[in-house]
Amino acid sequence: MRRKLAAGNWKMNGTRASLDEVRTLAAATSGARCEVLICPPATLLARANEAAGAAPLRFGGQDCHAEPSGARTGDVSAEQLADAGARYVIVGHSERRTDHGETDAMVAAKAMAARRAGLRAIICVGETLAEREAGQALAVIGRQLAGSVPDGATGADTVIAYEPVWAIGTGLTPTPDQITEVHGELRAALLDRFGSGGWDFRLLYGGSVKPGNAAEIFALPEVDGALVGGASLKAADFLPIVAALSAAAAPAG
Ligand code: PEP
Repeated sequence: MRRKLAAGNWKMNGTRASLDEVRTLAAATSGARCEVLICPPATLLARANEAAGAAPLRFGGQDCHAEPSGARTGDVSAEQLADAGARYVIVGHSERRTDHGETDAMVAAKAMAARRAGLRAIICVGETLAEREAGQALAVIGRQLAGSVPDGATGADTVIAYEPVWAIGTGLTPTPDQITEVHGELRAALLDRFGSGGWDFRLLYGGSVKPGNAAEIFALPEVDGALVGGASLKAADFLPIVAALSAAAAPAG
């Protein structure tokens, strides 16, 4: 069974004042039937971890360098994230691919660094609107998946997030059929490459998930959770999403 995952990506948002949101989330999600993860800015990682205390709320980084240490001004290594209390790290987010020119090979190197440091990598893939309109969405995503997931990856150390670039922060979401089609392709590609181990990878959807659309998205086959940006910043918005995922994880009947 793949454990469902509600992951929040705070991006470059949050200061110490945001730790109140962490405390609220920690208290309110301790009985959740899914895993709950917040990826705050690296500056808050250690404090957020402390603020959550013994609660099962997990924390992650938003990016890491492929090297463990060295002369890399401004970068953070996977080992440093782990040292600050991270369990996960997002790699290959479209904002990193676009703003920092990250290639699939660079993303794969970061995912390997995550494994080396004992972190789970959340590897993001997704097409631009122009690529979708040109009928290239599946080809682009397939190429990103093949190039960004390192050899030897398993469902225990790797999560895949399908994040259409045009849905991130725009309020737009793909249709249920579009999500189902992409997640089906991702699963098929993982099975093709990793054999039956391909079933173990969790597949998240990300892009304008909010309380109003979460239940519909979580009802789709092959959706094991969500990567949430804007709606993860406030506990009041994120908690209904966690509740919808918890409900989807509940045994039927
Ligand atoms: C994201 O950037 O990973 C994301 C899904 O953002 P949002 O939920 O704000 O669209």
